[in-house]
Amino acid sequence: MNNILDGKKTAATIKDEIARAVEELQAVGSKKPHLAAILVGNDGGSVTYVNAKMRDCAEVGFESTLIHLEESVSEDKLMEEIKKLNDNPDVDGFIVQLPLPKHINEKRVIMAIRPDKDVDGFHPQNVGNMMLNFPGFLPATPYGIVQLIKRHGIETSGKHCVVVGRSHIVGSPVSVLMARNAYPGNCTVTLCHSRTKNLKELCQQADILICALGKPEFIQADMVKEGSVIIDVGTTRVPDSSRKSGFRLKGDVDFEAVAPKASFITPVPGGVGPMTRAMLLKNTLEAVQGKAY
Ligand code: NAP
Repeated sequence: MNNILDGKKTAATIKDEIARAVEELQAVGSKKPHLAAILVGNDGGSVTYVNAKMRDCAEVGFESTLIHLEESVSEDKLMEEIKKLNDNPDVDGFIVQLPLPKHINEKRVIMAIRPDKDVDGFHPQNVGNMMLNFPGFLPATPYGIVQLIKRHGIETSGKHCVVVGRSHIVGSPVSVLMARNAYPGNCTVTLCHSRTKNLKELCQQADILICALGKPEFIQADMVKEGSVIIDVGTTRVPDSSRKSGFRLKGDVDFEAVAPKASFITPVPGGVGPMTRAMLLKNTLEAVQGKAY
């Protein structure tokens, strides 16, 4: 199929660009970019994601530090670790892997991260900068989606972009980016969620459909317009006894049925996921380059 938005390949190109930028920084005597991550507990998904992020750092020549705290860690102890990273001049950016255990106030944690080190782009200051089209850190998944669109030269101006899902990390911010007066952007955006009444009709009107619900194969062929661009963010683990892990990832879109109608479509895995990882590295590089602050 020649209509695949290949996130794996695009992410590899971005990582190569980052690795070259690191070499250039070092050639002029700068230190390596340094990304730190705080992981609380042993949730399978979170451990896998954080380890992958640390491996990505090594690949592009970044330094990385993983701070692994036990599930029962107190909120105050976590705040202390955040303060240490905020104050450590060697650390350029850091993330606190979400979700956090229930006894920890996620909002307080996000608010405690210094905005100029918040490479996940979740702090309200970075969210505000995004709304205003000011420099700052964009959240990695929406940033990855717009880069995928840009690097495939997909026209967005004047298009109807329908986003399904309104989370703070994907749906809401990507709807803002697609509506901005920029490229990619300048779309007329419809943001849908679980209370949307005429979801099918709205999806059928989409020139660009971005799905971030976490419901495997929710989007069927009769919900999409011929020639539309389909971005599938969903990554739900479904049981698969033929795999060593015992599961495989499924997107929100019925790929086999929808792909023949799409002008472009992201696969799962290999679409938005690798782009998300690449953009965390990009944000960390931008922290070093002083592009965001
Ligand atoms: P989330 O916080 O669970 O939000 C899901 C959103 O979908 C909510 O806004 C919800 O509406 C909406 N929704 C649920 N059922 C719906 C329905 N039947 N019709 C319309 N809207 C519906 O999810 P998230 O964190 O954004 O993640 C979404 C998916 O993307 C998950 O599979 C996640 O694993 C994946 N993900 C992938 C990446 C990546 O890098 N590939 C990154 C982040 C997330 P309400 O607000 O009304 O409840």
